[in-house]
Amino acid sequence: MEKRTKAIHEAVRRSQYGEVSEAIFLTQGFVYESAEHAEARFIESGPDEFIYARYGNPTVAMFEDRMAALEGCEAGFATASGMAAVNGALTSMLSAGDHVVSARALFGSCLYILEEILPRYGVEVTFVDGTDLDQWAAAIRPDTKAVFFESMSNPTLEVIDVAAVSALAHAQGATVVVDNVFSTPVFSKAVELGVDVVVYSATKHIDGQGRALGGIILGTEQFIRKTVEPYMKHTGGSMSPFTAWMMLKGIETLDLRVRAQTASAGALAEALEARGDVRVIYPGLPSHPQHALVERQMGAGGTMLALDCGSKDAAFKTLNALEIFTISNNLGDAKSIVTHPATTTHQRLSDDQKVELGITEGLVRVSVGLEDAKDLIADVTQALEGALG
Ligand SMILES: *Cc1c(COP(=O)(O)O)cnc(C)c1O
Repeated sequence: MEKRTKAIHEAVRRSQYGEVSEAIFLTQGFVYESAEHAEARFIESGPDEFIYARYGNPTVAMFEDRMAALEGCEAGFATASGMAAVNGALTSMLSAGDHVVSARALFGSCLYILEEILPRYGVEVTFVDGTDLDQWAAAIRPDTKAVFFESMSNPTLEVIDVAAVSALAHAQGATVVVDNVFSTPVFSKAVELGVDVVVYSATKHIDGQGRALGGIILGTEQFIRKTVEPYMKHTGGSMSPFTAWMMLKGIETLDLRVRAQTASAGALAEALEARGDVRVIYPGLPSHPQHALVERQMGAGGTMLALDCGSKDAAFKTLNALEIFTISNNLGDAKSIVTHPATTTHQRLSDDQKVELGITEGLVRVSVGLEDAKDLIADVTQALEGALG
């Protein structure tokens, strides 16, 4: 089956009532027929047997199995947020003394885990410029346990050669963990390109309507059941059944939404680049330094772009003049959203780190929503004309 069909029909667990829309099992626990039955469940639970919602729940299992089917992975574990997924994927597999190689261009909270938390527990982390394969090759060692990167970085939209980095990692026996938010499950070929563990913040495109936090860790049955599940179920970052139900509804329209948002992002990027007064970063434009890689790896430019307005003043004026775009920090939403990373999502970084990552004072991150592209182009055009004169 193709992804769009799987997104609707995969992993339905229909109850005895034959409901059409997936049921929300808002229950923390499950009843056993006998003491012997309870004992047996605690020794080993079957695929349709649940014990406690922190360990698993039928609605959450539908979300996990459907996401695994979409991504082409054997199994998944759903988490309370994207950060619970990033933390769970890494911390569940790492021990003191292990070595990790990570791309430097990361979402702020991901950077916090790699830079602050893991070293505190004795994990050595080497940071590289993710777009430079020579740096990956030099940093990955025989004792490297994992490599980590965002397939497309937030907010500067650098694209990492997933197949090449995976090959370098596998040559040394390291596990490849990828935060795939910007690629989305729609355009992802992560498994085919060699990724072992795929992580999503479901808060973004999967919900796509700004309602709830969520995340998921996807990988082999062995990795999810033996490494991730024991860690997650005992440390408490599991997804709620209500959230899983919303995410299931989100998945049904994910492909339509992401493709429509991508088409509008492309149209907006082209219109803005044609103006010539702002630098436009969009992976789907031929001017993007890794455009050929994007075409090969994703086949589309995605729903996000970035503009460099030249100064903080021009960026703020642009943000404040927008009428349709809202100033916020979510992305992948039906509503178009603009963010000034240097003063919000990436405020914590030092000036040197900002320079290194290309997060300039004038940079504006744009998440393109589901409004009519003509209105979005007109809105950004009038805002830039006011801000840049
Ligand atoms: C938003 C985001 C996260 C964190 O997800 P939450 O659901 O907010 O915890 C992690 N990585 C990337 C690339 C993101 O954009």
